[in-house]
Amino acid sequence: MTQVVLQPSGNKGSREHYRNTIDELVDLAAHRDLLGEALFQHLISLFPSGQAPMWGVTPGQGDRNRASWQKIELGASALFAADKQIFSRGMIAAVFHNPPLARRLWGIDENGATWEYMYALDSVEEVNIPYAAFNAAVGYKSNNIIQGFTVLSEEKSVAFLQTFPASAVRVEWPATPDEVEEARRNLDGDLERRVEAWQRAEQSVLREALLRGLATGECALCGRVMDSRILVAAHIKKRSCCTDSEKRDITNIGMLNCKFGCDELYERGFVSIDENWSMIVAPSLTDDTALAYVMDTMHTSIAPRPASAKYFAWHRQHHNFE
Ligand SMILES: [Zn+2]
Repeated sequence: MTQVVLQPSGNKGSREHYRNTIDELVDLAAHRDLLGEALFQHLISLFPSGQAPMWGVTPGQGDRNRASWQKIELGASALFAADKQIFSRGMIAAVFHNPPLARRLWGIDENGATWEYMYALDSVEEVNIPYAAFNAAVGYKSNNIIQGFTVLSEEKSVAFLQTFPASAVRVEWPATPDEVEEARRNLDGDLERRVEAWQRAEQSVLREALLRGLATGECALCGRVMDSRILVAAHIKKRSCCTDSEKRDITNIGMLNCKFGCDELYERGFVSIDENWSMIVAPSLTDDTALAYVMDTMHTSIAPRPASAKYFAWHRQHHNFE
């Protein structure tokens, strides 16, 4: 999944909003009453510090903004623009409709509307991308001005992200000493904090995509339903081997696996899924207890997931099943 959201924020009101709820973070506990318990808990899981950058848009003329907001996918890159340049970017980690909270944070505009179509951001970073460079990257005319809140087409989103990948995304951790050195140069030294922040955000987004904020979930490999805290958001293809675009393929790269065996067996390549979606067991798995678990507890086959087939194929090849 690859998506870019353009958020012009150059007028006086927008600048104030940016200072108040992105530069200054929103304290989640202070708004627990309006967030509601489920959303509050979800945001706390995404932002363990208890504070989050937030943004919102009004419904817009003819509900134009609402229609665009509904297209936002988790993990999208939001670009904030003013004075003919994109000055910051962040990853959209949660999307929610909350008029009372918007009124409390930002009030109402001259038409009585509020910025009720909201999102929370992670990994916000300052950038300096002139409109001209943005226009060139996505194929707009060079004098194009970014007009309103817009969700870019997939084609334009891909083009932008290829030219301007989020800096933290480029870094793998753990990395080789050379890569660490290069990353340090790219990130002005504060490497560890930013990489950890990104990975935490990425893991949270994957969990959210798989769990949808629910307190329980189903293990993809054994079908047992259990408390979400004993499920992991696993990568079908090993995360460190994924390209950036594969990592962002949130709906297809992940699956929920239970910590009671399935995650460990799949992660280590003792089991895999074949092209007919059947469970296959590595010859190297000879332990009786583990084999009994596979036979008695795990699925013999899973529901077909064609969009994930290439990731399962990678897993089979990587672990010498074929
Ligand atoms: Zn399981």
